[in-house]
Amino acid sequence: MSMREYSKGETLVANLPYAGMLVIGVAVLLYAYGFSAASLAGAAAYLVYGIVGTLWIMVFVCPYCAYYATRSCPCGYGMIASRIVRRGDGNRFAQKFRRHIPVIVPLWLIPVACGAIVLWRSFSWSLVGLIGTFVIVSYVILPLASRRHACAECPQKVECPWMGEG
Ligand code: SF4
Repeated sequence: MSMREYSKGETLVANLPYAGMLVIGVAVLLYAYGFSAASLAGAAAYLVYGIVGTLWIMVFVCPYCAYYATRSCPCGYGMIASRIVRRGDGNRFAQKFRRHIPVIVPLWLIPVACGAIVLWRSFSWSLVGLIGTFVIVSYVILPLASRRHACAECPQKVECPWMGEG
């Protein structure tokens, strides 16, 4: 099976939509709730959740992926995973994907839900703009980048729950 390999620059670019989602998510939370200690703690918790979420995927999903330990994983998780966990049974990829992706789904929901609560109490076009930017990056650009790039070339796309939903 011949698989395309990604350069370090391409890997860096592939991580930008997810990093952008976290940064804009933090901005939404801080703009909506101000800079009180509680608000700063909440925004920091969201950021830490996002970083731990990537580690979670590396530990519980990547070992079962065909891109594990190769430079064909566009975001580089597969190479990092190979340094921290052993290879798993590739036949269990879909099962692991279904089980562990829900762990990170709240990252897409928290800024929208928290921002909407504040908007409902006190409307602000600036906050609408920030939430709108978050939605475009996390719900449009990020999945588009995955599907068009990584997923389109993935040897496991037939059994992948993400591609199967499209
Ligand atoms: S393609 Fe996805 S599941 Fe596969 S190694 Fe990369 S990040 Fe992990």
